[in-house]
Amino acid sequence: MLQINNVMVPLDTTDYQKVISQQLNISKNKIRDVKLVKQAVDARRKNKVHFVCSFTFNIDNEDLVIAKRPKLQLTKVKPYNYPVLKATDDHIVVVGSGPAGLFCAYNLARAHQKVTLIERGSAVDKRKNDIDHFFKTGKLNPESNVQFGEGGAGTFSDGKLTTGVKDYRKRFILETFVEHGANDDILYSNKPHVGTDYLINVVANMRKIIQKNGGTVLFDTKLVDLELENNQVKKIIIEKNGQVEKMSVDKLVLAIGHSARDTYEMLYQKGLEISQKPFAVGFRIEHLQSFINVHQYGKFASHPRLKAADYKLAVKTSSGRGVYTFCMCPGGQVINSSSEEGGLVVNGMSNQARDDKNANSAILVTVGPDDFDSDHPLAGVSFQRQLEQKAFELGGQNYHVPVMRVEDYINNTIALTSEEVNCSVLPAVKYANLNELFPEPINQALKEGLQLMEQKFSGFTNQAMLSGVESRSSSPVRFYRDNNYRSNITNIYPIGEGAGYAGGIMSSAIDGLKCSEILLKEESCI
Ligand SMILES: Cc1cc2nc3c(=O)[nH]c(=O)nc-3n(C[C@H](O)[C@H](O)[C@H](O)COP(=O)(O)OP(=O)(O)OC[C@H]3O[C@@H](n4cnc5c(N)ncnc54)[C@H](O)[C@@H]3O)c2cc1C
Repeated sequence: MLQINNVMVPLDTTDYQKVISQQLNISKNKIRDVKLVKQAVDARRKNKVHFVCSFTFNIDNEDLVIAKRPKLQLTKVKPYNYPVLKATDDHIVVVGSGPAGLFCAYNLARAHQKVTLIERGSAVDKRKNDIDHFFKTGKLNPESNVQFGEGGAGTFSDGKLTTGVKDYRKRFILETFVEHGANDDILYSNKPHVGTDYLINVVANMRKIIQKNGGTVLFDTKLVDLELENNQVKKIIIEKNGQVEKMSVDKLVLAIGHSARDTYEMLYQKGLEISQKPFAVGFRIEHLQSFINVHQYGKFASHPRLKAADYKLAVKTSSGRGVYTFCMCPGGQVINSSSEEGGLVVNGMSNQARDDKNANSAILVTVGPDDFDSDHPLAGVSFQRQLEQKAFELGGQNYHVPVMRVEDYINNTIALTSEEVNCSVLPAVKYANLNELFPEPINQALKEGLQLMEQKFSGFTNQAMLSGVESRSSSPVRFYRDNNYRSNITNIYPIGEGAGYAGGIMSSAIDGLKCSEILLKEESCI
């Protein structure tokens, strides 16, 4: 099989066999089994927006075809299968069913390893009801919400699967998503995204495979304590429906995400080595998606083969702080992603079609130990919590989200009432002065950053709406682990975003898979 890369394809063209035949100057009927394997939009020239694609195909005399066309990006490819490894005798407990824990447990179960996956939040159907109830009433369930529950923080999200991490496991992850219900365009899109409406089914289907292969999955079950002996965990203490029980473990994988602050505290008290880590805070910014489409695609903005456009901006401010956009959700909604009573945090989600009328993105500035005013390993968590409590207050202490127009934020004036606001934020908004949210150096950086972005993206700050606070863009801590993923307590394996080793769904899933491979290759250390 051959692969050809970097092929320019007009937006309206779908006869890929013909496209390849023209590239190779070989008749169409000699080219077989054509498959689109990568598709990106090139919109650098607004009068000539087109796709850039890679295809695989079969053809006779592959070596000759390559040798005669040195200017084309042609390579031989062979299909890759992610191997199934052999199980050990260990009982492995994975805590947390987000992408890191889910892929770890899934791969362990594929090998028929004895594995128990425990999740403090609810199974996805009940979780969805809890979240809908929160969006309707403002009544938060602190154990079943946008952060906690089956599938972790990534389930009620945009489901973007982009990552800067280069790793061959990405293919297996994409194929697993498709096998369990994601749209197969994620296999070729250069910016794959699944969407909340599909993710809900994907995570439930993956869980069913874990169970089918002999794994145990326990929802509404929280890790609350550890019994240690000789620097190893012997038993974990779990809480389910107010009942506490003990469970023996040989190896404990911690895939707890970055929002389980009570669990961070417990692990710190138990002596797990944790250190501070810089992270980023800021707002969500919302625009009309039609405005973003026109800016990015020009006259092709409403072309039926182009999806809702995205953008990515990064600027450096005079104080040296970088300000950047992050986790942009085309055609999506800003949602109240709180998980703690009395604290409010926002994030963005979208469905597979990305057809809501607004676009949203985080707009962030990095914060670090200098901002935390303490050397305590969990000082970043306290910093986040203070911001979230302030956002809760600004919203009126009922989980209404504080919002403000960019120009009002920059000028420090309140010009609208809550009723005049037109944005997607759930469950409801309160027009408030977001200048009160951050310490002044952060406000200054964000304001300057927004103005610099306006210079790069004309109209970016015009009529755009900010909501806050976006404080959980990444983990405020890092757990120590060695090259074999072992923490200082040697049968504990911290993984994923909460442990400080991943950022986003794809890299967390990769980390989970890598951990499962290590566990399957190791003999018990007990
Ligand atoms: C609204 C939203 C939108 C997002 N959009 C995207 C996106 O489009 N693309 C992207 O790449 N990333 C996105 N993210 C970030 C992404 O979801 C995270 O990076 C990813 O989920 C981290 O995976 P994880 O497995 O490390 O942790 P998590 O997904 O946070 O999972 C941790 C799990 O552990 C459970 N847990 C915690 N403590 C305990 C305990 N003591 N006992 C039992 N269970 C416990 C939690 O309930 C949770 O389910 C989004 C996040 C949110 C909130």
